[in-house]
Amino acid sequence: MAVMITDECINCDTCIEECPATAIVSADDSPLEEGEYTYVKPEKCIECVDGSVPKCFDACPTPGAIVWDLPYTAEYDDYYLEGNEEGIYKIRVHKKKGIFSPANQPKPFREAISIEERMEHKALEF
Ligand code: SF4
Ligand code: SF4
Repeated sequence: MAVMITDECINCDTCIEECPATAIVSADDSPLEEGEYTYVKPEKCIECVDGSVPKCFDACPTPGAIVWDLPYTAEYDDYYLEGNEEGIYKIRVHKKKGIFSPANQPKPFREAISIEERMEHKALEF
């Protein structure tokens, strides 16, 4: 992914317009069955690797609302597919290309963020 939005989010929606990958949707548009918060589509997030600071983090007024998740790469395909089964994610399924899982559609990620920090869903800080 990438990044996740947590239940600290106040649904101000400020981050949505800032995302260069159109990866963020409001709670009302969340693809999750019971999505109560602004949602990041892991299959779209590119961790703003070209910038010094992720745009969503830069725009967000709420500490702890945005946290790290595992890289969206083939190595973590099972992690994301299991999360998809559990309803943590709702990964896009294309009619012809199938599910946009990390193995099918890997995304860039920040190598400076450790896997431990990502496993802990550590809040972004810069
Ligand atoms: S890190 Fe960048 S690409 Fe990912 S959701 Fe935030 S703004 Fe969008
Ligand atoms: S800017 Fe922060 S608080 Fe506002 S919707 Fe996005 S994640 Fe939630």
